[in-house]
Amino acid sequence: MRRFRQADWDEPLIFELSRPGRVGFTPPKAEPEVCDAAGDIEELVPQNMLRREPPHLPEVSEVMVVRHYIHLSQMNYGVNSGAFYPLGSCTMKYNPIINEVLASNPGLTELHPEQDESTIQGVLEMMYQLKSWLLEITGMDDGTLQPAAGAHGEFLGCLLIRAYHEDRGEIDVRREIIVPDSAHGTNPASAMMAGFKVVEIPSREDGCVDLEALRSVVGEQTAGMMLTNPNTLGIFESDIVEIARIIHEAGGLMYYDGANLNAILGRCRPGDMGFDIVHLNLHKTFSTPHGGGGPGSGPILVKEFLSDFLPVPTVERGEEGYYLSYDRPKTIGRIHGYYGNVNPMLKAYAYILSMGPEGLKEAAEISVLNANYIARKLMKVRGITLPRAPERPRKHEAVLSASEMERETGVRTLNIAKALLDRGLHAPTVYFPLIVPEALMIEPTETEPLEALDAFIEAIEEISEIAYSKPEEVLSAPRNTAVGRLDEAKAAHPKTLCLSWRMYRERFGGD
Ligand SMILES: *Cc1c(COP(=O)(O)O)cnc(C)c1O
Repeated sequence: MRRFRQADWDEPLIFELSRPGRVGFTPPKAEPEVCDAAGDIEELVPQNMLRREPPHLPEVSEVMVVRHYIHLSQMNYGVNSGAFYPLGSCTMKYNPIINEVLASNPGLTELHPEQDESTIQGVLEMMYQLKSWLLEITGMDDGTLQPAAGAHGEFLGCLLIRAYHEDRGEIDVRREIIVPDSAHGTNPASAMMAGFKVVEIPSREDGCVDLEALRSVVGEQTAGMMLTNPNTLGIFESDIVEIARIIHEAGGLMYYDGANLNAILGRCRPGDMGFDIVHLNLHKTFSTPHGGGGPGSGPILVKEFLSDFLPVPTVERGEEGYYLSYDRPKTIGRIHGYYGNVNPMLKAYAYILSMGPEGLKEAAEISVLNANYIARKLMKVRGITLPRAPERPRKHEAVLSASEMERETGVRTLNIAKALLDRGLHAPTVYFPLIVPEALMIEPTETEPLEALDAFIEAIEEISEIAYSKPEEVLSAPRNTAVGRLDEAKAAHPKTLCLSWRMYRERFGGD
């Protein structure tokens, strides 16, 4: 296991490396004929848009710039340079490097959004094929690849719910979207942004939707319900068919948050569970890391009756090849300027193609096996419990709690997370979902070998032992990271938060 001392991390800011007059790169002068044709730059740019003083940029030589950023990148935790990465829900699933190589093909990266369709048949075919596979995987009828993130897809999904009720003349009455209290925070936010009122319902003891609570809020004011299945506790909603029936009988639509689909790939489909709209995060389940340094991809897939409302353009196949179609009379419009997020689409395409139906199913099975292995082992660790129906199996992730440890030793989930960082491991998602106190949300994924799971379990066992014998040691973690314990109040307060070198200088002086 890789361990560091804090002293290893002594990297100045790039502004502190700056020396007047030092230059890293000099752009070539434009050819005289180009300059002459364009005219003088100071005359071309309107006066009020010209800078009055030069920008405050660091003056650094080329090699210093390279070293600086390489050092910074080494201070980061990488799934390839570090170890286990159990960040529940948002974790990186399987990201084969060959997909990164494919997606960096200049044939893809150099495409221009205004290029003629006849010259981009390959990428259009890829998008068309990808959509058809996603429809098959989810059990839906039609869809769009436009949204550039999961939350973006949710927002579009809510706009589709609105358009559907508007079309039926019911939107003035159907103002409410129902969301369980275990939902991802983006769900209520997306519904609000689409103009709906969010009605939150409590979860049952086992973390599933409370049918009585659901029946009590459903009515003619219901526009729809947003649900994740398996839910954020990693538990499968076994009443899903009944839930969908209750919503549909009231005239509402069922929305499926499929950000993390890996537990059910090839095993069951939201379309068969009764959902009308589905979003997927290609940048989680289908081979692009979440936060992969570029746009994501949050396709929306719908049942036939919502097809007319989808945003334009969609990729279609005609006699002469593939083309972008604007023919959706009831379309809600565009949700994204161009398909600039084609890169994660290609990775998802390559992933599905190389895994095949059997491979996807196997990924689902191993992700569930790994999550249950970890949950069963960790619930036996002193101070750690598996709240909410511990007898029920989990799907791709499990939410444990350290509230017993906190009561008995003062060591909280946050301290455990910091102590994991000291051991060269990434922390799980903490304090989410909100319905579990002192939550540790662990998603091992299907890619980790048994030894990696055991090393993580051993680290938690070791931290628990220390918490019960010398708690101050865990309370003062981390000691081996680039920065120690952050002052969370200062880091969030507008008076002390500095997001740029200039803000820092204005606040605290100095050069
Ligand atoms: C990650 C996630 C989202 C949001 O996806 P973004 O691409 O980050 O906007 C929504 N729901 C769930 C359950 C998620 O895990």
